[in-house]
Amino acid sequence: MKVSVAQKCGFCHGVRNAISVAEKILAEENDVYSLGPIIHNRDAVERLAKSGLKTVGNVEDIRSGTVLIRSHGAAPEQIAKLKSKGLNIVDATCILVKRVQHIAGELEKEGYKVVIIGEENHPEVRAVVGCAEDVIVIADESDLHKLPQHAKLGVVCQTTQSPDHFGRMLGAMGSGSFSELKVINTLCKEAIKRQESAVELCKQVEIMFVLGGLESANTRRLAELCKKVNKHTFHLQNWDELDISVLSGKKSVGVTAGASTPDWIIDEFVKNLEDF
Ligand code: SF4
Repeated sequence: MKVSVAQKCGFCHGVRNAISVAEKILAEENDVYSLGPIIHNRDAVERLAKSGLKTVGNVEDIRSGTVLIRSHGAAPEQIAKLKSKGLNIVDATCILVKRVQHIAGELEKEGYKVVIIGEENHPEVRAVVGCAEDVIVIADESDLHKLPQHAKLGVVCQTTQSPDHFGRMLGAMGSGSFSELKVINTLCKEAIKRQESAVELCKQVEIMFVLGGLESANTRRLAELCKKVNKHTFHLQNWDELDISVLSGKKSVGVTAGASTPDWIIDEFVKNLEDF
């Protein structure tokens, strides 16, 4: 069986930075919190929890110590609350996510109604929503009714959406009623490169595995794109989730992984496949 790994897969620089910042603080301090899972990968979160990282859902759950802001960022209101409690804040927000937050604020100051194309409940989107007074979140065409008529719309996109989806949504918005449409491309090139190399690889193999957290938006996107090209695509968190009967009779296997999937998950999966 031939095992091929996508040219570009696994940790992006934003996630790698957040993990290394967490490891550095944990080596120096005992009372360290992450506001929400540091990345959308259960195995990586569990590994850091063993080193002492406490993951909490709310600002109210933190009374002392150091708080790590994950790569998805946090809303300014949350940061202000943390500051008012006198906590030590270490910001590991990805610079590309910070850019979207900044653009959302600027668009509103310029008089645009800010629109973000993305998943309403994703932490990156929620943080961007917190950066302006009024932000409309559009996941797909079914949300277009939320757009006000004859307004000046300033549009950004969740960093890990696919260019195809971004383009399709802009087309749909463009055929609606607006007085002005200003679009800033906030897609992440790291995520796009992972999407392109995953699609390229899954055309060449009989079966494709996409590794990463089930709640990871960028991993889910990879799996969706691969499934469109290769129906034998499986989104798994790690080797333990594999039902090996799906490998029966397969001679070529492809592996890719989301931007929040650690190298050791990919290496273990590939090694086990090669040994199989
Ligand atoms: S996928 Fe892109 S935007 Fe998201 S954390 Fe990684 S580098 Fe930053």
